Amino acid sequence: MWGWLVIDTDKILSKCAQFGKSATQQRMAIIKELSGSKNSISAYDLLAQLKKQGHAFNISTIYRVLDFWIELGLIHKIESNNTYLVCNDSHHNHFHVLFHCLGCETVEESCKLSKQAMLPNMQSFKPKENQVIELQGLCKNCS
Ligand SMILES: [Zn+2]
Ligand SMILES: [Zn+2]
Ligand SMILES: [Zn+2]
Repeated sequence: MWGWLVIDTDKILSKCAQFGKSATQQRMAIIKELSGSKNSISAYDLLAQLKKQGHAFNISTIYRVLDFWIELGLIHKIESNNTYLVCNDSHHNHFHVLFHCLGCETVEESCKLSKQAMLPNMQSFKPKENQVIELQGLCKNCS
């Protein structure tokens, strides 16, 4: 299931409720559009796709809303190529590992492997939840 991520409205709404935030039309349109994307995409590609759907957002709105969803843990940013994808794993007790293929630029998130990277449970340091580890390599098709 390379890069094909779907998120349902219930999950989005319950996350917003949990954080006391509102799921505005703008926020919903942006996360839904990203969720329908087959791979991680840049903010500008997302903007272009939304424009095709008839949404006239500007790029600063896109970035602001992406940050909003990242903070809530529903979207991940892939730092190495500045793209975004919807989180495919709702656990909070482990890192979220993203497999980034440098051949075809697909990104896959797998809970199975992520589970091995538990967040440290210590008194002296409390890590933020939903942190991402990016692993770069080649997928089955590219290797
Ligand atoms: Zn995730
Ligand atoms: Zn590949
Ligand atoms: Zn998980």
